[in-house]
Amino acid sequence: MLRLLRVVTHGLSYHPQQSTTSTFSTLNNLNPQQLNNLMSLKHALSALKQYFGFDAFRPLQADIIRTVYERRDALVLMPTGGGKSICYQIPAITLDGTAIVLSPLIALMKDQVEGLSANGVSAAFMNSSLDVQQTRKVEDALLAGHIKLLYVSPEKLVSQSFQPLLKRLKISLFAIDEAHCISAWGHDFRPEYTQLRFLKEQFPHVPLLALTATADKLTRKDIIGQLKLHEPEVFISSFDRPNISLQVRPGQRRLEQIAEFLKQHPKQSGIIYCLSRKGCEDISSKLNARGFRTAFYHAEVPAAQRSKVQEDFINDRVPIICATIAFGMGIDKSNVRFVIHYNLPRNLEGYYQEIGRAGRDGLPSAALLFFSYSDVQTYRQMFDEGDGSPEQKQLKIAKLERMYQFAEAPVCRRQTVLNYFGEPHEGNCGNCDVCQHPPRKFDGTITAQKALSAILRVQENVGMQLLVDILRGSQRREIVEQGYHQIKTWGAGKEYSFDDWMFLLSQMMHLGLVEIAYDDFSRLRVTESGRKVLFEQKKVTLALPQPKAKPEEKHVRFVEKTKAQTFKEELFDLLVALRRSVAQQQGMPPYLIFSDATLSEMAEKRPLSDADLMHVTGVGERKLHLYGDAFIGAIRRFVLEKSNDGARVAGSTYLQTWEMFKQGKSVKDIAAMRDISPMTVASHLATMYERGELLDIRQWVQPEQMDIIQGALSLFGEPYQLKEIFEHFEGKFSYDQIRFSIADFRKQRK
Ligand code: ADP
Ligand code: ZN
Repeated sequence: MLRLLRVVTHGLSYHPQQSTTSTFSTLNNLNPQQLNNLMSLKHALSALKQYFGFDAFRPLQADIIRTVYERRDALVLMPTGGGKSICYQIPAITLDGTAIVLSPLIALMKDQVEGLSANGVSAAFMNSSLDVQQTRKVEDALLAGHIKLLYVSPEKLVSQSFQPLLKRLKISLFAIDEAHCISAWGHDFRPEYTQLRFLKEQFPHVPLLALTATADKLTRKDIIGQLKLHEPEVFISSFDRPNISLQVRPGQRRLEQIAEFLKQHPKQSGIIYCLSRKGCEDISSKLNARGFRTAFYHAEVPAAQRSKVQEDFINDRVPIICATIAFGMGIDKSNVRFVIHYNLPRNLEGYYQEIGRAGRDGLPSAALLFFSYSDVQTYRQMFDEGDGSPEQKQLKIAKLERMYQFAEAPVCRRQTVLNYFGEPHEGNCGNCDVCQHPPRKFDGTITAQKALSAILRVQENVGMQLLVDILRGSQRREIVEQGYHQIKTWGAGKEYSFDDWMFLLSQMMHLGLVEIAYDDFSRLRVTESGRKVLFEQKKVTLALPQPKAKPEEKHVRFVEKTKAQTFKEELFDLLVALRRSVAQQQGMPPYLIFSDATLSEMAEKRPLSDADLMHVTGVGERKLHLYGDAFIGAIRRFVLEKSNDGARVAGSTYLQTWEMFKQGKSVKDIAAMRDISPMTVASHLATMYERGELLDIRQWVQPEQMDIIQGALSLFGEPYQLKEIFEHFEGKFSYDQIRFSIADFRKQRK
């Protein structure tokens, strides 16, 4: 089955500009199917703008949508925050019928439906939380063809009672979210998922999208096999999350370090993960005592309190949650700005999944990890005492060690973690602690060769510690008994201490020169790359060990902020406050009103009219309609206030004129009071009119006059030169008449 797959990775994003140039020149060469797809994609793009306010698809989204339009199946692997939902939401919106979306997380379902409704998309969900009447209502809406997306729980989808309804619907596509739950190999196995083969059996022509953020090769094969996907296209996007900075620090004085971090990230929302329940409570109360607003969350907190904590977090009432990893699964909040690990996570899969909860909106976010060897010991004890076969325990320990090595090795964090997931990365990400404070590097070719040679000379028969002892010329019994003291590299690495060697070897592992055979007593193996270093003189750069206990660096830098930055931050805070009150009125989480990214763009661009606001990413038609006035009003007030304080703010002069005009002052008065000419006042008013303000322009120009002037505009090119037009009519119309006719003409065109 897998041989049939065509794997698409890192596809190009579909941009409107690209499409227009490439579309029209080649339109004649396309077959009807291709032409159809292209038209559908244009349709998809305009739906993206209309409903979500986004201008372009992200990499792979357009390709995935095209696959659905072609009525084919696909498996989609994208990291959390990568934009999976759009891949089925846009086809659902643009195709006839209803899309059935399977989602295992009931809390998330409600959020998704709310989010879609806020964007003007009719969606509903069905799960055990609905009573009979509510279910009935949804069914009626479905049968009437009013629902574009139906979210269902696995229990519901496979239940007998649901089947007759399913058969009566016109289904546009199936989307299986969290598709890895189908695999017993994965970590979130859900038995109901294994019954889903009936979808393709009973609806062979309905395209099926399986989506997940975590699936190794085995799991992928399981998903495809068990869902019976038909020649699926497999889309694997990059798992890099470049907006998340990766910081790792030794775990001394954690609380002080965290307090310092929080001070540097005021007003931001984040999660602090702790290993133990007691730890969560402790840290939360200590941080509260220091004046931070936090709450704690773990499995033993009563259910009612747990959901309150979650609600408070989602609604931006409590910014910081100290939690065990039980927290976060059902949370889609896009403005989580940081994730701190107070303790080492148990493996890199967990680490990456947890930090992935930060920065879904794409804005800069931080992941801060503290590590200490005592965490490793705690886990080991937990694993020893826990259930599971010896093999499973060994695997857990191996993954734990890999986690520890990640924390310890002075290699680009992003490179290490992406390589671990099988995605090549060049390093030098520029957004991790190692790249920002690089350790001193040296040509480590000879050092590496010594270690590699020693590993081969002992027939790849020893683990790390024994190897280091050999390199350092130890005469301990095991070494002498095995005759290892007679090999050529015995004692060849005396210049480094035991700890230094451990440090160097872990780098060699991260560089892919050696591997640890966890299934064979953790013996060291030389890889293909390692052989190149040994036999082909391939160069290796290693880092000189840093002193272990580094004094805390002070990052305080006094950079003077520009006025523009200060303005932007102030306006952003104001918009955040407005968003909160709007959210409260609507009974919705703030991030579903507008994302932080959208507010940040508003604070930057300061839209003063509907037309301006439509250009902000994340503002679709529905939100413009619902919230446009409130947000534009706030931005206008801000701009006016600032300019009254004497600051020069773009757009403020129009607004000042407009405000005075609205108060009933005449053009002449405004001109006098503002010390500008009446012509300038009229031009401000024309601009405001063009931007969509209500203004009776007949006081300047009559409809018949306007017809004549506008009829002649095609003779002149944009930007219109008033003087030219004035002369064209030989002074028959005034400048004001021409000005307002142009404003009206442009307004009609918008
Ligand atoms: P996932 O389900 O993969 O975790 P989401 O579908 O929740 O990710 O998307 C993550 C964020 O990215 C959301 O805030 C979403 O609105 C945004 N997003 C998705 N696609 C685009 C796009 N084409 N342009 C801009 N933002 C997008
Ligand atoms: Zn890096």
